Amino acid sequence: MNVLLRDLKRQVENCTRCPLHKSRTRAVFGEGDGPFFMVGEAPGRQEDIQGRPFVGQAGRVLDELLSQSGMERNHFFITNVVKCRPPNNRNPRPEEIEACKPYLDRQVNILKPPAILALGRFSATTLLGRDKLITLRDYRGRVHSSIYGIPLVITYHPASVLRNPRLRNMILEDFRFFYREFYSTILR
Ligand code: URA
Ligand code: SF4
Repeated sequence: MNVLLRDLKRQVENCTRCPLHKSRTRAVFGEGDGPFFMVGEAPGRQEDIQGRPFVGQAGRVLDELLSQSGMERNHFFITNVVKCRPPNNRNPRPEEIEACKPYLDRQVNILKPPAILALGRFSATTLLGRDKLITLRDYRGRVHSSIYGIPLVITYHPASVLRNPRLRNMILEDFRFFYREFYSTILR
């Protein structure tokens, strides 16, 4: 891992900028070689224990979808808008997202991804720079410009498949869209 990123990781692991630090086991900085970015919502129980992103149930769904769309997990740097687990997996609060956002800004600034894939409405809303939560279905199937000026594709969160199995095919379509637009042309 790049020295700047390693330094930032240490900062995140010791961060007390918002109340989520009190209940976390481990902060989840993110991992992966890139060049692309994948941004989820917040660590869940397994992630909080292991200190790694998407290693629980949502991670299993994510891995299946990546494999079905011909993409490799390690071609992404995978992280979340909030680096510490909210108690009982409640939604992250606006002030927590705000407190944590400088870390995402810095990760993007260091790694300079050619494109970003947002998973779920908290991630999408943050990366679009909106202050009201967006409705995801209005934003699928198009390339947006993120707050960083980097192209952004938006899809549902893999965990939503566990509640609504019909969303699996929607995410798969969106992953395949990302593959066609960016992955297949940049990784060659
Ligand atoms: N859900 C997320 O949004 N991120 C994770 O890392 C795991 C589950
Ligand atoms: Fe710090 Fe982010 Fe964890 Fe809050 S969620 S304590 S801002 S690393």
